[in-house]
Amino acid sequence: MFGAPYDRFTTDEADDAEFKSVGDDASVSRRDLLAEFDLTSHVHATADGYDVGVPTYLLLSSSLRSDDWRLVNRALDDGRVPVSEPELDTLLQQAVRERVAEGLPLDVPDEIADALEAPATAVRDVLADMDLTREIDTVVPELFPPCMQHLLDQVQRGEHLPHHSRFAITSFLANVGLSTDEIVDIYKVNPGFGEEMTRYQTDHIQGETSPTEYTAPSCATMKAYGDCVNPDDLCDAINHPLSYYEAKLDDEDDEDLEDWRDREETDADADAEA
Ligand code: SF4
Repeated sequence: MFGAPYDRFTTDEADDAEFKSVGDDASVSRRDLLAEFDLTSHVHATADGYDVGVPTYLLLSSSLRSDDWRLVNRALDDGRVPVSEPELDTLLQQAVRERVAEGLPLDVPDEIADALEAPATAVRDVLADMDLTREIDTVVPELFPPCMQHLLDQVQRGEHLPHHSRFAITSFLANVGLSTDEIVDIYKVNPGFGEEMTRYQTDHIQGETSPTEYTAPSCATMKAYGDCVNPDDLCDAINHPLSYYEAKLDDEDDEDLEDWRDREETDADADAEA
């Protein structure tokens, strides 16, 4: 999805190491990208490549999984992080990826939407048959699968989440019965989540402003994106985070289950009385 623009600008750079402006309006240079993302003053050319200011480096590398990108594994030079040309290209690719993801979902022209309607309906039917969103309406975070507990924890610690992780935890919370308002409330503690965008994305996932109620990603997808964290024994027996949660709920005595929303209300009442 992001490969074409990235290939285009790296090809341009290979042809033009001096950052000469390219005449083809379909092309983009590395310098153009640095300017586009307001990075020109944060990324400096050096004899061996480039160096990047630490805050900018942390921001751009936050979604990169390899340990090589961790700041503790980098040689700092006077408070800056030296990177090679290919590494800078990877960091810029992340900036492009984030920009594209922020703009999703895109409006699709009617003729394309019409052409996709039949296969989209077939996929919806198959997903409905899988019944992954069995009527769960009980929210007990301690019984969430480890991956979702981890993502929820990151949200509440105010950490930045890449788009796929945000989609995973938001769709999971929606699937287990939280309303858009309740999800927006959870995200309020995280300054990185704009309320308007969170509400828009959550309504879309809930099917309020889209034709589909989205289901949280399967374990295979979570693994592919590096979002499968701390799997335990039960994970060996399931293939979807919602199946994990259903199994955990089934194991519990109904009378012992206390919904998180009831707990919040009780706590609020206690605070009001105090
Ligand atoms: S195996 Fe599935 S449920 Fe378990 S942590 Fe990984 S993604 Fe989550």
